[in-house]
Amino acid sequence: MASILANIFALQCPTCHQGDLFPTGSFSFNRPFDQYKHCPACGQNYFPEPGFYYGSMFISYIGSGFACLAIVMFLRWVLGWSMIASFATLIAIVAVVFVWWFRFARSVWIHMVCKYKPEVAAAVASGALEVPPPETSDRS
Ligand SMILES: [Zn+2]
Repeated sequence: MASILANIFALQCPTCHQGDLFPTGSFSFNRPFDQYKHCPACGQNYFPEPGFYYGSMFISYIGSGFACLAIVMFLRWVLGWSMIASFATLIAIVAVVFVWWFRFARSVWIHMVCKYKPEVAAAVASGALEVPPPETSDRS
């Protein structure tokens, strides 16, 4: 379980836990919404059906809503900051983490659908699989 959680945060393939979901780093802000079409290590299809990531939007919405509330409530009520300072800080935090949050929601979603397969991970580790380099796609 801890391994699955760590893998969700690492934004890696749910099937083999070795390939990346995204070609660039979340905080590089380089091609922020591009995602591999399949796993570069095991070939797991990251877009199994049209509109697959529609559900991740709800994870993103619910999580970010509560996170924003918590941040503002903490700054306003615990630290006693002004409303303007609290919301300005919130906007700064959101500006930094929004790409990571988008990717994290997709990672949670695909981990809910695709299960870890130890035999695939072993095949990847031993080099038995040959997977073509993946194309990238945004908005699928
Ligand atoms: Zn994989």
